[in-house]
Amino acid sequence: MAAINITNVSKIYAGGVEAVKSVSIDIADGEFIVLVGPSGCGKSTLLRMVAGLEAISKGTVEIGDRVINDIEPAERDIAMVFQNYALYPHMTVYNNLAYGLKNRGTPKAEIDARVAEAARMLEIEQYLTRKPRALSGGQRQRVAMGRAIVRKPAAFLFDEPLSNLDAKLRVSMRGEIKQLQKRLGTTSLYVTHDQLEAMTLADRLVVLNGGQIEQIGRPLDVYHTP
Ligand code: ADP
Ligand code: ADP
Repeated sequence: MAAINITNVSKIYAGGVEAVKSVSIDIADGEFIVLVGPSGCGKSTLLRMVAGLEAISKGTVEIGDRVINDIEPAERDIAMVFQNYALYPHMTVYNNLAYGLKNRGTPKAEIDARVAEAARMLEIEQYLTRKPRALSGGQRQRVAMGRAIVRKPAAFLFDEPLSNLDAKLRVSMRGEIKQLQKRLGTTSLYVTHDQLEAMTLADRLVVLNGGQIEQIGRPLDVYHTP
C-alpha cells in the first residue's frame, strides 16, 4: 500500500492543448479519491498520466517514495480498470486473470491461489473457463476488477468503470467496489461523471474544470447546497 503524491502536474498535448494545468493532489495511503468535472476537463488525461499511458509534461507523480514519471507502466505497481473492460477476448477468464502474473514469472501455485481468491471475492468462480463473450456486462466488469486485484497493486486507477452498465447494476457494483477497496485498503483514484457514484465512493472529491482543480474536499462539503 502507498500514498500517491501528484505535484504540479501538467499535460500539454502535441498541438498545444493544455489539458491539465499544474494539478497537485496528495492521496493518503488507503484513501479513495474521486475525480469529477465536465467532459473535457482533463480527468482522463490526469489518470492516464498516473497510469503511464500518457507522458507527464511537467511536474511529478510519486507512489510511495518513488517518482514514477520515467517508470514503465507495467513496473508502476498500479492496476487500472477501464470502462470498456479491456479483456483479452480469446482467453478464458482464468487466463485473463492470470496473464499479468504469468508475464512476471509468478509461480503457478501462487497464480492459482491469487486467481481463486479474487474469483471468490468477486463471485466469478463459476466463469473461470468461459471466454469474455460468454459473460454479461456485469460479469465482464468483475473480471476486469479481478485482473486488477490479483496483482495486489499499491494503487487502483478506475476510468469510468461502471458507465457501460445499466442503472441497477451500476448501483450494486459501486457498493461492491467500495467494500472491496475498504477490505483491501488500496489507495484509489477513480474517474466518473456520475454524481451519486462520486458521493458514494469518495473519501475526498476533486472537482476539475478546464484542467485545474476547482474544489477538493469531502463529498458533503463539495456538494453541500445551502
Ligand atoms: P475528460 O476525461 O475530463 O473528459 P480528457 O482528459 O479526455 O477530459 O480531455 C481533456 C482535454 O484534452 C480536452 O480538451 C481534450 O480534447 C484534450 N485531449 C484529450 N486527449 C487528447 C489527445 N490525445 N491529443 C490532443 N488533445 C487531447
Ligand atoms: P487455453 O485453453 O486458453 O490454452 P486454459 O484456460 O484451458 O487455456 O488453461 C491454461 C492454464 O490455466 C492451464 O495450465 C490450466 O491448468 C490453468 N487453468 C485453467 N482454468 C483453471 C481454473 N479454473 N483453475 C485453475 N487453473 C486453471
